[in-house]
Amino acid sequence: MNEVILEVQHLEKKFGENIVLKDINFQVRAGEVISIIGSSGSGKSTLLRCLNLLEEPTNGNILYRDHSILDGDFSPTEYRTKIGMVFQQFNLFKNMNALKNCTIGQVKILDRSKGEAEKIALENLEKVGMEPYIDARPHHLSGGQQQRVAIARALSMNPDILLFDEPTSALDPETVGEVLETMRLLAEKGLTMVVVTHEMAFARDVSSRIMFMDEGVIVESGPPEQVINHPEHERTKSFLKRYL
Ligand code: ADP
Ligand code: MG
Repeated sequence: MNEVILEVQHLEKKFGENIVLKDINFQVRAGEVISIIGSSGSGKSTLLRCLNLLEEPTNGNILYRDHSILDGDFSPTEYRTKIGMVFQQFNLFKNMNALKNCTIGQVKILDRSKGEAEKIALENLEKVGMEPYIDARPHHLSGGQQQRVAIARALSMNPDILLFDEPTSALDPETVGEVLETMRLLAEKGLTMVVVTHEMAFARDVSSRIMFMDEGVIVESGPPEQVINHPEHERTKSFLKRYL
């Protein structure tokens, strides 16, 4: 089996009195594609945000290559370059073209030269099929194109894992497919991914593992064949019924 990149141990997150994540345990191994499914409000985004320290867990631990990311001596800035994130709303820099969106983090955070950063950005823009649009600013691009630039930007930081939080939920239906296809190609190339999604066909066909969350708990986890086709738990069954 491949090496463990992330290990989540007894993770808990509270907002005030509201316990949003309860005793979450799982590992992410190199090359895995994990899909997280579940109803709105079940804690999926909060879990992803804890994984890259956009939220601080209130209990439990997260180990990155055996080091606790919650230790005082751990550098969140450096860590976040290892754990990339793609958001529902793309979050591109609006005043920068596609190329600049993909180079600025490399130059500012990874200290790469402009030339090196552009070379890497172009490789990644090509991977997602956006190299014809390197000069375009976000408002000249469709949602699907913007999301592909956001993916190229995340890839340009050479992350160990890429987290996706409902990457197609804000898209017009006609551009959903191009983003899912891009993600499928990245998965085939061996990128380690954790994807929160409502796209059940994608989850079934591309994931190595699916986790179903409900009310802050991982109710059921396993290969797609098991979780989608033979769910054990009533809550999983009734959730999936809405998508069949
Ligand atoms: P999902 O992504 O599955 O829809 P979220 O992780 O966004 O779920 O939210 C889980 C719960 O945590 C919800 O009840 C939500 O209201 C609550 N929550 C999320 N973020 C915050 C926050 N910053 N402050 C207070 N409550 C929050
Ligand atoms: Mg969410």
